[in-house]
Amino acid sequence: METLKWLVYEKWSGTEKPLDKFGCPYCEKNEATLPYNAELGKCPGCHENLFLTDMLGFHLDMISDAAPDTVATTYMSIHEVLLLFTGIRYFWEKNKVILSECLFVKDGPLTIRAQYSKLVNPIRRFLAYARDQGYPVHIIGQEKSGKFYDHLEIIGRDVPCGNLFIPSNQYIKMQIQCRPNTGAPYGKDTNYGVKLFVRLNEYHKMVINIPTGNSDFVENPTISNLIGAKRIFSTLPLIISNRYEGGLLPIELAHGIVSLSTYPSAHILKIFSEKRGK
Ligand SMILES: [Zn+2]
Repeated sequence: METLKWLVYEKWSGTEKPLDKFGCPYCEKNEATLPYNAELGKCPGCHENLFLTDMLGFHLDMISDAAPDTVATTYMSIHEVLLLFTGIRYFWEKNKVILSECLFVKDGPLTIRAQYSKLVNPIRRFLAYARDQGYPVHIIGQEKSGKFYDHLEIIGRDVPCGNLFIPSNQYIKMQIQCRPNTGAPYGKDTNYGVKLFVRLNEYHKMVINIPTGNSDFVENPTISNLIGAKRIFSTLPLIISNRYEGGLLPIELAHGIVSLSTYPSAHILKIFSEKRGK
């Protein structure tokens, strides 16, 4: 909750930014807002109770007595973003020098989809602000499935080692998504990182996302737009794992800890068997 407030009220900036207006879950008017730093409040239109979390719009995906499975998946992905930024917020408040020495590695794209993408612009603004203050925040997200990963399988084979490719908006739409180059640029509202293909060596090629140092969306980014690109690409060869193709050690270690087959379920089974034994 502290990190959500830190992001949406832009507390990192030192100014008391009001909350952007959002759709009220009760009267459905797009006039709902809360006072600075508040977790609770009243809708200015219908005076019903509002929570800060209502701004994310989970209510748009469910009805009062049932919800599709996607709500749980979306909740998980929002939670992942907030956990990632809890680490960043902690170092931002305690020690910005250490923050800039860290590499934050996310399993999955730097994307927040649909109505939940309201978090994207505050994240972009924070990353640009931190960079401009001289404390760049190094983040990568790795994609191991999806259209970009499938595309890497096609184009990656013949690429010489030590190369990277940042696809343009037109390339993404026409070559990867196979759709006309019309409408809003790809990822304009939903992505806080640029997607790129990297071939490190014979065994390791990957799709990674890196944020740009622009608070506005960059339609056709170049390497100079990527925050901390030089240091990130110096670090990548040091954290690869040879267990899987394109494997990154931090992600592999995290998977090892959270794997249901090891720590949590073994512990739960032990408690269960002890209870049954009594
Ligand atoms: Zn209302």
